[in-house]
Amino acid sequence: MFLSQERDSIGKVSSEVISCTRCRLSESRKNAVPGEGSESTKVMFVGEAPGEQEDIQGRPFVGAAGKLLTELLASIGLRRTDVYITNIVKCRPPNNRPPRKDESTVCRPYLDRQIRLISPRVICPMGNSAIRSLIESEKSVSDLHGMPIEAANLTYFPMYHPAAALYTFQLRKVLEEDFGKLRAILEAL
Ligand code: URA
Repeated sequence: MFLSQERDSIGKVSSEVISCTRCRLSESRKNAVPGEGSESTKVMFVGEAPGEQEDIQGRPFVGAAGKLLTELLASIGLRRTDVYITNIVKCRPPNNRPPRKDESTVCRPYLDRQIRLISPRVICPMGNSAIRSLIESEKSVSDLHGMPIEAANLTYFPMYHPAAALYTFQLRKVLEEDFGKLRAILEAL
């Protein structure tokens, strides 16, 4: 017997995220932030959760950290529209507190569907929170950044969160170097 089921799509995920009330973050958000970019890209960037500007605009990485991410992408010849950018948690936690376990757990199926639909070759988790959600490791970003981790049909490439480089200038250099390594990985695909 066939059940008529609408095919999943990035648009469907986005509209579900926009009206999601699965957790308390929906009560304080202005806008949910599903993610944006190319649906046929080879590379996805995943941050922790939207911040203030993202909450206002409903778009990922559009504040100061986003400006740096956009510049780092440009440094390896990529536009934001060439990649897919999203977060582990799709709504801003109040005062930018870290997302709670129950919030990331109920939000996770959206990211899993985005990954399944886009089917990227490389996923770059940015910062400890995204790294811990996507990679089984006790190590932190300082140990894992800039080193590809091979999984089934997929490479994880952990990076520092661009916000970290806004506060610690040396990390900007590290991020620039890691983006250089990412370029080589993408060119070799
Ligand atoms: N920080 C994140 O982790 N995600 C955003 O979208 C913006 C800032």
